[in-house]
Amino acid sequence: MEVDLVSHKYVYAFSEGNGSMRELLGGKGANLAEMTKLGMPVPQGFTISTEACTKYYDDGRKISDEIQAEIMEHIVKLEETAGKKFGDNENPLLVSVRSGARASMPGMMDTILNLGLNEDVVKVLADKSGNPRWAWDCYRRFIQMYSDVVMEVGKKYFEELIDKMKEEKGVTEDVDLTAEDLAVLAGQFKDEYKSKIGKDFPTDPKEQLMGAIEAVFRSWDNPRANVYRRDNDIPYSWGTAVNVQMMAFGNMGDTSGTGVAFTRDPATGEKKLMGEFLMNAQGEDVVAGVRTPSPIAQLHDVMPEVYDQFVEICNTLENHYRDMQDMEFTIEDKKLYMLQTRNGKRTAKAALKIACDLVDEGMISEEKAVAMIDPRNLDTLLHPQFDAKAIKAATPIGKALPASPGAACGKIVFTADDAKAWGEKGEKVVLVRLETSPEDIEGMKAAQGILTVRGGMTSHAAVVARGMGTCCVSGCQEIKMDEENKQFELDGKTFKEGDYISIDGSTGNIYDGIIPTVPAEIAGEFGRIMDMADKFRTLKVRTNADTPADAKKARELGAEGIGLCRTEHMFFEADRIAAFREMICADTVEEREAALDKIMPYQQSDFEALYEALEGCPVTIRFLDPPLHEFVPTEEADIEALAKAQGKSVADIKAIINSLHEFNPMMGHRGCRLTVTYPEIAKMQTKAVIRAAINVSKAHPDWKIVPEIMIPLVGEVKELKFVKDVVVATADKEIAAAGVELKYEVGTMIEIPRAALTADEIAKEAEFFCFGTNDLTQMTFGFSRDDAGKFLDAYYDTKIYESDPFAKLDQAGVGQLMKMAVKLGKQTRPDMHCGICGEHGGDPSSVEFCHEIGLDYVSCSPFRVPIARLAAAQAAIKSK
Ligand code: PEP
Ligand code: MG
Repeated sequence: MEVDLVSHKYVYAFSEGNGSMRELLGGKGANLAEMTKLGMPVPQGFTISTEACTKYYDDGRKISDEIQAEIMEHIVKLEETAGKKFGDNENPLLVSVRSGARASMPGMMDTILNLGLNEDVVKVLADKSGNPRWAWDCYRRFIQMYSDVVMEVGKKYFEELIDKMKEEKGVTEDVDLTAEDLAVLAGQFKDEYKSKIGKDFPTDPKEQLMGAIEAVFRSWDNPRANVYRRDNDIPYSWGTAVNVQMMAFGNMGDTSGTGVAFTRDPATGEKKLMGEFLMNAQGEDVVAGVRTPSPIAQLHDVMPEVYDQFVEICNTLENHYRDMQDMEFTIEDKKLYMLQTRNGKRTAKAALKIACDLVDEGMISEEKAVAMIDPRNLDTLLHPQFDAKAIKAATPIGKALPASPGAACGKIVFTADDAKAWGEKGEKVVLVRLETSPEDIEGMKAAQGILTVRGGMTSHAAVVARGMGTCCVSGCQEIKMDEENKQFELDGKTFKEGDYISIDGSTGNIYDGIIPTVPAEIAGEFGRIMDMADKFRTLKVRTNADTPADAKKARELGAEGIGLCRTEHMFFEADRIAAFREMICADTVEEREAALDKIMPYQQSDFEALYEALEGCPVTIRFLDPPLHEFVPTEEADIEALAKAQGKSVADIKAIINSLHEFNPMMGHRGCRLTVTYPEIAKMQTKAVIRAAINVSKAHPDWKIVPEIMIPLVGEVKELKFVKDVVVATADKEIAAAGVELKYEVGTMIEIPRAALTADEIAKEAEFFCFGTNDLTQMTFGFSRDDAGKFLDAYYDTKIYESDPFAKLDQAGVGQLMKMAVKLGKQTRPDMHCGICGEHGGDPSSVEFCHEIGLDYVSCSPFRVPIARLAAAQAAIKSK
């Protein structure tokens, strides 16, 4: 392939871009360009495009000579604009180097500030500014960040050196260290660097710059970014852009500062400026939670003009983007600079309120309101809260910032690794940390809640927890932490690892011990947004429900039918499983029929309850599909009970169990294969379905119940016909005997590749298709849905897969089979309905695919119904 490298542009000055170029410039770069266009005070700079990042990886992790040359051309231009020069003795140029992907990934990648400093430059800055403390503070910060990010020395050593210095000087805050102290520290830092890296700390700003840019590209592939991308559906192929920007200094003294702000409350959506700032500080200080910042409103008292100017900019930006903005700013000696704006991350509750308010304010259409909400976020609305009575009776032992809503109760752990390990054992844990850092993400995900000692509402812990929908209370300074011994003191009590604690992310309250939680109650703007979504979507949303309680919950959440009732799941309870085992372990038709007679009343009354709960909406009942290994007894007592019930010896039962052993149960004697061997099972289930439908129809003549009977695991039309013949004969006999009229449908699941490949044949018998994408994924990939977790991590690490194909539909493979099956099926039977009931039915990107290939409905677990409704609406809006 011939590529014209000479003319390809990889670097864009902020003045060359605009807000619509986020694919190329990343979100941060595009918005810096847009703010520049709007005439806002943005320190100038340039963006190295996402294409350059992709090329860096394609070239074997190397920044090509052409791109390096283009970067240096832009440095020259920036020097001209700024009237400053890299490494200059008069007017040295310092820059920041920051990542900026297409989708914002807060805290996941790296940033370097004050780049361009060396021993000479720092002296120039100190002399010229008359503020040596500031100059040395910048330098020690730069060495620290550069060592950590570019050379991966690790922050710890430097923090230890700072703590030692503070102790020697008898001060508690960084700001109390003098210029001389900081100069000594900078020297110690460089020694530390040399002892770890074996080379002197680089002094040439150009060398520093290339090192930093490369480090940002490299950070696209760091473990925490990889986890974040997987959770947020961000493709690896996008790459990150890098922004090189002239420094504005917030650490120049008491007339300088830095902060972050949101135009609306990211926790509640309320329309008011929210944010935090710190005087005499640099960017990372606010979000890193090292010092606790002041609320933005107080900036009015400190610097009224700057505050007014900032408020005006906030209004302009919100009106311009027509969405809540999250901004970063710096004040350098009373002059305001904007460093970033982006559509702010928010809780689900805030997202709904902001969308509705923007519609009411005439800022956006309903279509836009529906499109702007991340469906995955809705999950958090559906999360538990504390039991109202219990919480009223409880007395908090501490209070901090309500950083991310929800309630959490669990055992205390002190490290992200412990959170993960305990979580994997099934323990509910609350992760208690001095402050969290992005490396903690997996532990944060595993925890029920997060409690931090330091940090404000915009700290890493708060931002990340909100994004994940995990309850978080941050900045509890009363906690006396002893991380080393895994304990802390609060309210006069020592809490140790494993002790219970409860935290309320909506109030910030902390409680000793266990407080029970209750499921979430959905209110507020939720219904309004869901109604809007329903206006746009064409895809119906059903639910996977096996119990009347689940079905009712799903109806409340907007399900329009049951797309999958797994009948084997109706036998998990102790009294029922006994009869079920008798059926499985029967060795004659008579024995099996006797067991089936016991099962039948359960089935019929369950089906009646489901029809009642669904009030005339469609109900698809999937005939038995028990992977036998999940149901045969393994405990001695159960085996004895079964022997007794069957009038057999324990040895006989064990022999039967042995004979049922399968090497590959998921590809074994399950699904319709069971009915082909034992047609009496299908007979019993058909009787139960038809009798239930007749009874409920009699009680509710207006409901027009049409039973949908679904045959699982079909791969060959003749096996479907065999089972269908049994069903039809039995159903027709039941209907005739009852003397009623009842329409019913017999359809099949498409979950074996052969069924998809021969869908035109299958459709001759099947009156509907429903894609069982759990099995279809398993069979298409050829790996077990129960065991894939054991090796998928290796596939993520090697980038063979970017996501779990059992969670997010593999559109290229499994999706193609689905597309083909719909087409073939409809060729044979144009009016057949098609749906999906594998786990993918509640995953937004998979729902979009289902819309595209023309399915009639998706079916998912009850709590994912709202997610599917919104995703379906977004798919319809997108395809318009
Ligand atoms: C499927 O295979 O996708 C399906 C819904 O059936 P089950 O999960 O019960 O195998
Ligand atoms: Mg299946």
